[in-house]
Amino acid sequence: MQIQSKLPDVGATIFTTMSKMALEYQAINLGQGFPDFNTDPALLGLVSEAMAKGLNQYPAMAGVLPLREVISQKIANIYKHQYDPDTEITITSGATQAIMASVLACVGAGDEVIVLEPCYDCYIPAIKLAGAKPISVPMRAPSDINSVYSVDWGLVNAAITKNTKLLIVNFPHNPTGAVITATDLDELEKIVHQHNIFLLADEVYEHIIFDGVQHISLSTRPALAARSFVISSFGKTTHTTGWKIGYCCAPKFMTAELRKVHQFMVFTVPSPFQHALAVYTADSNTYLTLPSFYQTKRDYLSNGLRNTRFKVLPSPGTFFLLADYSDISDQQEADFSIWLTKTHGVTVIPVSAFYQSSDAPASNHQLVRFCFAKQEATLDLAIERLAKV
Ligand code: PMP
Ligand code: GLN
Repeated sequence: MQIQSKLPDVGATIFTTMSKMALEYQAINLGQGFPDFNTDPALLGLVSEAMAKGLNQYPAMAGVLPLREVISQKIANIYKHQYDPDTEITITSGATQAIMASVLACVGAGDEVIVLEPCYDCYIPAIKLAGAKPISVPMRAPSDINSVYSVDWGLVNAAITKNTKLLIVNFPHNPTGAVITATDLDELEKIVHQHNIFLLADEVYEHIIFDGVQHISLSTRPALAARSFVISSFGKTTHTTGWKIGYCCAPKFMTAELRKVHQFMVFTVPSPFQHALAVYTADSNTYLTLPSFYQTKRDYLSNGLRNTRFKVLPSPGTFFLLADYSDISDQQEADFSIWLTKTHGVTVIPVSAFYQSSDAPASNHQLVRFCFAKQEATLDLAIERLAKV
């Protein structure tokens, strides 16, 4: 007997593969994106309190109401959009499940979904599982080491057909660190004005943005909010990637369909974490201090890399930065990343892994992604090893 695979091309993710290799070669893991420091003890205390209080049984399918209320209030404060906690906010098992549920809810056979490459690894499998067709539109690669990736809206517009149902965007952008601009939002508004399509905004790094710039959520524009699934994750915002608590905000008619999928994927997500995050997130300092916290780490790694042969590109957002290794090697990005782990004991992620055709020349710009969500001691050790490359 054989299973007819729904995802014949899928293996272990690049993050799993590189983390495994890092362990095997005892390399410093600046690959997979997760902090190597613990979360705030106050938050840990709130989880223990919730457990001790007996908040350990099934919470509401859409998530505990106090958490949905806090999220609604937060978005009203910073993005000036009012989501109804009852009908428009759903707590999910990380952003990953919010993305899967949104895609399954709104697209199917015959539909096309546009993604911008390089793109995060879970979008295309979700589209394929929904029976729809992923259409990859390349972002404009940086022209030199002082620039960042940007969206080529001409190419996006050219990719839209009568079958296009959904466009997925991700800002601040993994892996490139690019942030969204008002002009990008103008372009999106023009698109939704002309075409009847849904939007999915993966905004998991909304609070990790630097140099005084503010993230502009798709929810800040009523015309976009009216047709968007806006997704975020507490994993990034509270240094708890292993808790897998995220959420999806969307208009009532979209949320109703999302919840039909959500309730049969997971029904609901762990109660004590949700209660703890509700209390914790009510204090806006818990997320408003993240830009300066991570900017220090970005600058620390960037400065350290200046003493190596890597050339650092600007990183306006996320806890990643890209570096060009063309002074070191001619290898393709994947080969270079493996070589770096094995030979120099530092693990990174090839940017080409975020493209459907990862071996194609158009996917290889001699760039690798470093995660700087690490303690200074970890970054020091990595910099010391990289200086010898
Ligand atoms: N989207 C992006 C762009 C991410 O980088 C990640 C995880 N790093 C996710 C979604 C998934 O988030 P979660 O761990 O909450 O599922
Ligand atoms: N989002 C993380 C990254 O980009 C990885 C999460 C995962 O391993 N699935 O590194």
